[in-house]
Amino acid sequence: MIKLTYKPYDVQLKHVFRISRGARQNAPVVLTKLTYEGVDGYGEGSMPPLYGESLETAKAFYAKVDLSQFDNPFDTETILSYVNSVAPGNQAAKTAIDIALHDLIGKLLNIPVHSLFGLPTVSQHTSMTIGIDEPEVMAKRALEYKDFKYLKIKLGTDRDKEMIEAIRQVSSQPFFIDANQGWNNREEALDFIHWLNEQNTVFIEQPMLKEDKTGNAWLTERSPLPIIGDEGFQRLTDLKEVSDIYHGINIKLMKSTGLREGYKMAVTAKALGMKVMLGCMTETSCAIAAAAQLTALADWIDLDGNLDVTNDPYQGIPVQDGVLRLSSAPGIGLVNPDWDSIV
Ligand code: MG
Repeated sequence: MIKLTYKPYDVQLKHVFRISRGARQNAPVVLTKLTYEGVDGYGEGSMPPLYGESLETAKAFYAKVDLSQFDNPFDTETILSYVNSVAPGNQAAKTAIDIALHDLIGKLLNIPVHSLFGLPTVSQHTSMTIGIDEPEVMAKRALEYKDFKYLKIKLGTDRDKEMIEAIRQVSSQPFFIDANQGWNNREEALDFIHWLNEQNTVFIEQPMLKEDKTGNAWLTERSPLPIIGDEGFQRLTDLKEVSDIYHGINIKLMKSTGLREGYKMAVTAKALGMKVMLGCMTETSCAIAAAAQLTALADWIDLDGNLDVTNDPYQGIPVQDGVLRLSSAPGIGLVNPDWDSIV
């Protein structure tokens, strides 16, 4: 019998994190634990208010989930199809169960979760994100993050060029650019992308409104840089349509309902010739350690959501000079998680 327990937790950030559509300095998350024959697996769902879930919706969802009906945790497809069918939406709440289940079966088999998916133990550079702020503050952050190979810059304002110029005064690190749907004129966006291409930029994430499929597809056809869909891509079933709109997708476990569907997204996207990036929300080292298990399938990773957290209750994958180093520790690789002390 599988038993689910969960705790609400409030993740606090060192800096206010601002994007084109909102700002936050904390994020509610739900921490989960699945127990089977005395072994515990840990998971997490992150629910920044912008995305429609909350501790209340998670609580209401878990009240309907009955995992005690399952006596074989290895039936992941069956269990997770059931969880998905309990109610629509609730992606982050579902993710928290999916991660805990994979952590649990990794521990039961004494192998890391990436091995469950047939993936190698790899190390990869993550980008470090700089939120929207005064240009000189963004430049100051770039200096703080000089050990990272890539900087991810949040744009989508009327001062975008000024911000990039300020950062380029102090840094030559390649940029991942994320407009978070903030650009609304396709011709201007294309001109700006050409300019960004000369500023050592790797790709552009979600340039225009997710609803503006024609505008995003128009840019994808003409852009010298890969265009990646994030807000415009949610679930695996969206992939067919999205493959005509973007060069690639940003897979986040909090959208995909977890590792199982995240893995399917990555392999399907690759089969369609698309680029794959792994992203995250503001979250603890638990969800980051989980996402990192899929690193071998990604062209780029942006798994920095725990690095600015001041009250991280977990220790997961170590980051050294901006490199996430997967270990062969069983499950998602949390180091001595102490569930009872988390309040
Ligand atoms: Mg994004």
